[in-house]
Amino acid sequence: MNEKRVACREGQTMKTIHEPAREIPVLAEVDVLVAGGGPSGLMAAQAAAADGKARVMLVESRGYLGGNLTIGLPILAFLGPKGNQVVRGAAQKFIDRLRARGAASGHKPCKLHMSLTIIDSEAAKDVAVEMMEEAGVDVRFYTFVSDALVEDGSVKGVVVESKAGRQAILAKTVIDCTGDGDVAFRAGVECRKGDADGGLQPPTLMFNMRGVDIQSLRDAIVNQPEIYDMDRMPKEQFAEGNFITVGLRGQIEKARAAGLDVPVSRTILISGLAPDEIWVNMTRVNGTDSTSPESYTRCEIAARRQVPVVVEYLKRFVPGFASAWVDKIAPFTGIRESRVIVGRYVLTAKDILSQRKFDDVICLAGYPVDIHHAKGGDCTMIFCEDAYQIPYRVLVPEKVEGLLVAGRCASMDHEAMAATRVMSTCMALGEAAGTAARLALAAGGQPSAVDLTLLQRALLANGACLG
Ligand SMILES: Cc1cc2nc3c(=O)[nH]c(=O)nc-3n(C[C@H](O)[C@H](O)[C@H](O)COP(=O)(O)OP(=O)(O)OC[C@H]3O[C@@H](n4cnc5c(N)ncnc54)[C@H](O)[C@@H]3O)c2cc1C
Repeated sequence: MNEKRVACREGQTMKTIHEPAREIPVLAEVDVLVAGGGPSGLMAAQAAAADGKARVMLVESRGYLGGNLTIGLPILAFLGPKGNQVVRGAAQKFIDRLRARGAASGHKPCKLHMSLTIIDSEAAKDVAVEMMEEAGVDVRFYTFVSDALVEDGSVKGVVVESKAGRQAILAKTVIDCTGDGDVAFRAGVECRKGDADGGLQPPTLMFNMRGVDIQSLRDAIVNQPEIYDMDRMPKEQFAEGNFITVGLRGQIEKARAAGLDVPVSRTILISGLAPDEIWVNMTRVNGTDSTSPESYTRCEIAARRQVPVVVEYLKRFVPGFASAWVDKIAPFTGIRESRVIVGRYVLTAKDILSQRKFDDVICLAGYPVDIHHAKGGDCTMIFCEDAYQIPYRVLVPEKVEGLLVAGRCASMDHEAMAATRVMSTCMALGEAAGTAARLALAAGGQPSAVDLTLLQRALLANGACLG
């Protein structure tokens, strides 16, 4: 083997070997290839295939669809700060399908999160597959997109790795919905990570507890708010219906004083669809970079070790948990932040907070800037007065053609991304990307040159809110 050493990071070198060039099979030639089947990828693939004319393929590295829709999170901010619905379109249709089988709640207003919509993770996987089948999308599981094929500044497809080996998929347009901007990064699109110091919002391993006496928890918050305090949310919000607690800061301090190393400063609990079910969003592994397998591996191990600590905290310090047990742990630790692309426009927190208007608006969003600190266990939230617009250019890489990027890796600064990362918004961005890819195909042009009036008209026709 022909070995040498090359520079890697911070003055270190790494041993390398030479991989000889080789012919690889072309697995498929499609019109639109969507990489990643999370909330944005599902909507992108469905929208791209909507007129039945495009050959659309969705490639997903895991053995199911849904991404973070499957880890026990509620979908936040279908409603905006003024209480009106700001995300509709394909995302709402997804919820309607879940509701038809009793697998989603309505959109419950919330002073902190604007609204929460509880979904059943397993049903979400099933509905996602059904939707792809109905739309005629060719889904490939267990297939990891490892590289981008770029010619003359335009993406022509991707390289995938699977048990079948290394293969190519050629596509007229690729939509990167990997969350980490994997395709864009490989295609040479400029990407950024984190705050000014590179600090990333930390990941969380979600888990679910059953046997919770939820009425005791409600009663404690409603009757003793001085002890069981909530951030911003009035106690009445907890009297009935679904809820997310964010608070009980004093209880965490007591637990810490008693020697428990609780990793977060706030108790975040999400009521499930079952009457004794709570999802717990309280593990946190600071300093994780999901684009580094070493870092993500350390994170998974550390997060699992935090679960029993958080469980002990809940059982000893939070009403309703004394007899509860851990029923499920999410299949992977959820990543809040990693790469984002630099697109033709970089959405900023200033745009969001001033509700800036854009001619190329593709969706509305209403979630506040919500930054889980890269260090320590707390969070900063900055609230918007009203819903804000997101422009099409955040999906379009600055230089590379043939590629759109949707979901949490679209073009946002650190603070703006802390608002647009919620799943309702990611779904709306995905729908816009898929629709644009379909229109570009019909026009025989690049997605970057899509007719914006046609795009907005198509999104409105499917029920989207543009403001
Ligand atoms: C702990 C945590 C709590 C959160 N809380 C909430 C909340 O309460 N409500 C809310 O609405 N949002 C919440 N969010 C934010 C939200 O879940 C994410 O920002 C959102 O899911 C991003 O959607 P996405 O489609 O961009 O990416 P993802 O949901 O990450 O989906 C990406 C998909 O791509 C696949 N993939 C990745 N790389 C490749 C590759 N190279 N090849 C093939 N497939 C690939 C992945 O397997 C995955 O299925 C939370 C996030 C975290 C981590």
